[in-house]
Amino acid sequence: MTKTRIFILYTGGTIGMGPKDPTDVNSALVTQSWEQLQQYMPSIHPDGYFSSIRNIEFEYFSFPELLDSSQFDVRHWVMMANEIEKRYDSFDGFIIIHGTDTMAYTASGLSFIFENLAKPVVVTGAQLPISHTRTDAITNFSNAIHIAGAKAFGLTPINEVMVCFNDRVFRGNRSTKASTNDFEGFVSPDYPSLVELEETIRVKHSDLLPRPEGKFRVNTNLNPNVMVLTLFPGIQPRHLSKLIDDEEIDGLIIKTFGSGNAPCTPEFLAVLESAKKRGTSILFITQCLQGRVSLGKYAASDVFEPLGVISGGDMTTEAALAKMIWVLGQKLNKSQQENLLQTDLRGEVTYR
Ligand code: ASP
Repeated sequence: MTKTRIFILYTGGTIGMGPKDPTDVNSALVTQSWEQLQQYMPSIHPDGYFSSIRNIEFEYFSFPELLDSSQFDVRHWVMMANEIEKRYDSFDGFIIIHGTDTMAYTASGLSFIFENLAKPVVVTGAQLPISHTRTDAITNFSNAIHIAGAKAFGLTPINEVMVCFNDRVFRGNRSTKASTNDFEGFVSPDYPSLVELEETIRVKHSDLLPRPEGKFRVNTNLNPNVMVLTLFPGIQPRHLSKLIDDEEIDGLIIKTFGSGNAPCTPEFLAVLESAKKRGTSILFITQCLQGRVSLGKYAASDVFEPLGVISGGDMTTEAALAKMIWVLGQKLNKSQQENLLQTDLRGEVTYR
């Protein structure tokens, strides 16, 4: 049997945390080293189950500074992408151990950064530290090994960036954190789970992205000058204008009501119009957990398309943000960028 090689990248997160004051279990959680985390995973030791029975070889790399994922920004996405790029040819699959807070953002970001990805990249973490007696870390991590090391289990490798959590495997750019404490921490409101993980594992082939034909490439041209704004009843256009009247904001994502509805007052429209004139791309997504933007369904959304507002369809906030950061980072003219913004690039959106 040939060896299956899995690369594990440890970035931080609750999964490996412990109390700051070891004598006080209620003190704030802080990250701990890979060595401490690994102690709780006997199955990945060289003489453990995965290596001795399944012939899997693991290699690890730990971020020099392990962080709570609330501290991450796009530079961390680039660091992760670079670590995977270095090892892309010599491994069958990749696991990123990550905090849950921004896991869906990272998974979305990496899905755009990786062009022609032909291997599984599984992002996972846990709601409770691995040292906790009721931890969900073991389930999540073991599932991630099965998906990243598909070959060793007779499964089809999935060539996507995924979020693996509580017996669910979601396309990364379709996932969102839905609970601060439930073991079912993530949902994929507009796209089915890619795998059924029960007593047996069933990969849902018809829901996967096709295998790419081109060569794998890491494209880290990113533009972080992007803002996300949630509408609320009574939002003051003059406040909005103070916030976005800035040459440096190249992209604005507005989380609208329902299917793309927003205030249609002349003042509100004027703010968007002047942002557009300055060259800011504006994308509407919905603030509802599930469903899509359909500009023109109501008179309350019909006025925005003529202004040059782009529909984000059923994209999650995380996918819309990551897509804008990536698309606006590409060396293209504005209209080419805006075409890309309304194109399904990595299975992140369905337009109907
Ligand atoms: N604050 C933690 C983090 O995102 C939460 C977690 O991992 O569950 O790193």
